[in-house]
Amino acid sequence: MSNVLIVGELKNGELKKISKEITSAGRKIADALGGKVTALLIGSGVEKFAGDLGAVGADSIVTVNAGDFNAETWANLVAGVIQDKKPSVVLVPHTSQGKDYSPRVAVKVGAGIVADAVGLSVDGGKVVAKKPIYSGKAYGNFKITSDIAIFTVRPNSQEVVQKAGAGAAEAASPSAGDAKVKIVSSDLSGGNKVQLAEASIIVSGGRGIKGPENWPILQGLADVLGAALGASRAAVDAGWIAHSHQVGQTGKTVSPNCYIACGISGAIQHLAGMGSSKYIVAINKDGDAPIFKVATYGVVGDLFEVVPALTDEFKKVLG
Ligand SMILES: Cc1cc2nc3c(=O)[nH]c(=O)nc-3n(C[C@H](O)[C@H](O)[C@H](O)COP(=O)(O)OP(=O)(O)OC[C@H]3O[C@@H](n4cnc5c(N)ncnc54)[C@H](O)[C@@H]3O)c2cc1C
Repeated sequence: MSNVLIVGELKNGELKKISKEITSAGRKIADALGGKVTALLIGSGVEKFAGDLGAVGADSIVTVNAGDFNAETWANLVAGVIQDKKPSVVLVPHTSQGKDYSPRVAVKVGAGIVADAVGLSVDGGKVVAKKPIYSGKAYGNFKITSDIAIFTVRPNSQEVVQKAGAGAAEAASPSAGDAKVKIVSSDLSGGNKVQLAEASIIVSGGRGIKGPENWPILQGLADVLGAALGASRAAVDAGWIAHSHQVGQTGKTVSPNCYIACGISGAIQHLAGMGSSKYIVAINKDGDAPIFKVATYGVVGDLFEVVPALTDEFKKVLG
């Protein structure tokens, strides 16, 4: 029997979708290994999300009362719950928070860790994680041999499946320890716009948009689709948009249902950040651009004609 612990995540007091995705993934693993799924939520007032995670397969929800995120504190709290619940498998969101505390947890509990899993299956009583390697040029399958296996899981890579677990909530108070780093303030950019890493649709622009004055053309399409705005490094380096929008090896890794690349050539470093998108739509006036090799749908044309035409059509269809 192998029990699974998933560590949920919140943003602005709301449960992030990745929390449900990894709960569903955990349910599948626990069903295959004959174990239980415990979901851990850290924060204040998190008990109210117990039902949400119970509905997608959590047998129990452990809630830990804590203030703002701090990787050191989170690592101590998660390690404390692992020591108490003794799971064999731990799933963590592959987000900036998850990436920050999960390696610390692995050291504290003596676990092996695989980061950025986009596929999870079970073989021979062990979880097999599929993850991109060589900047997304290939996938590797990894098994962890230690008693506790931690996997960080890429947002949007796992399906949310409604499958009721008992969802019983219990409060826990593991030691938070003494954090050496104190967060004195946070500067969150992006306002109310859709966040890149969690977006299910991304409209992204590259050097082909010619200048920052043309972002409204892409933002128009993004607004109609409820999409986030992404960018290539060329657009970011030119100072046309903030680095927080950059997709790729030195930017964000995204895995949306649909990635619309406008005026982006498809350099390997860009593909490293978006190659696992479910559908890739490329709009580029050069029919030989490498982006077309990975595109599900491609339009060889001028983005200044194609994007407004698409926006108008989507407006008609979506209202
Ligand atoms: C170590 C390292 C890390 C890097 N990390 C990243 C990263 O994280 N993310 C990233 O994106 N890049 C990264 N790069 C840079 C990468 O190699 C490319 O230089 C970059 O992705 C190119 O951006 P681009 O596609 O916008 O520009 P270009 O390669 O210049 O492509 C512009 C495209 O726009 C098309 N176009 C022009 N006008 C139009 C029009 N009117 N309509 C339609 N299409 C048009 C052109 O045909 C062309 O294909 C990295 C490079 C290195 C060395």
